[in-house]
Amino acid sequence: MFLETKSLTKKFGGLFAVNSVDFSIEKGKINAIIGPNGAGKSTFFNLISGFHRPSSGAVIFKGKDITTLPSNKIAELGIARTFQTTNLFEQSTVLDNVIVGHRLRTKSNLLDAVLRTKRLKSEEKKCREKAIEVLDFVGLTHAAHKQAAGISQEEKKRVAFALALATNPEIVFLDEPAAGVNPDETEGLALLMEKMVQKGITVCLIEHKMQMIMKLADKIMVLNYGEKIAEGTPDEIKNNETVIKAYLGG
Ligand code: ADP
Ligand code: MG
Repeated sequence: MFLETKSLTKKFGGLFAVNSVDFSIEKGKINAIIGPNGAGKSTFFNLISGFHRPSSGAVIFKGKDITTLPSNKIAELGIARTFQTTNLFEQSTVLDNVIVGHRLRTKSNLLDAVLRTKRLKSEEKKCREKAIEVLDFVGLTHAAHKQAAGISQEEKKRVAFALALATNPEIVFLDEPAAGVNPDETEGLALLMEKMVQKGITVCLIEHKMQMIMKLADKIMVLNYGEKIAEGTPDEIKNNETVIKAYLGG
């Protein structure tokens, strides 16, 4: 299995935000996580990406137990993520945002930085080239020199994708990548996710837009109050009684 969680659990005080979740992510596919607000979806991502430490359970990536690794080590293994809200340096250009974001994720040697060595300069050049490449991939070449404060919500979502892609990930976790964008833009972002998969990147996303998910996902997991209540193909999920009840509040 490519990436799997085993009885993954996170307690905040007495609350089980994620409760004993077994989930396996298929390589080269679009995997989705849905569920009502507060179901534990973002916390699940935080546990996998090392932003939160699980209370119990395990995360296994390509056969390696990564449960207790810090987030930077997890990123180095090829696991990238975006956040529900995209925080950019509003006064900087889109290109600089991606360059800085990328640099923060790559180890830089303090001595190199102080002496401004040849190696540092060549690393900076590589960062810049990578940023230009990923901005092209996400369709933002035209906006590279715009101030981040002046771009649309949909363009911000694309910048978030670019930031994740700059680390050359094998898998990306996208937290509500189409929240707050219109239907046409949602379609464009869905195409971009398909383009990632074509490039060999595995996708796992959290999303509320059911029409999009049902069209896009190969596999869906449904969380409710921290627990997995269903898992399957879009057709299986659509017809699942428990899921219908959870959504209709029955
Ligand atoms: P979702 O992303 O599905 O909307 P979250 O994972 O953000 O849900 O939250 C799941 C539950 O855990 C919620 O009840 C939320 O209030 C709680 N929670 C999330 N993060 C924290 C935290 N850092 N401290 C305490 N409770 C949290
Ligand atoms: Mg969330």
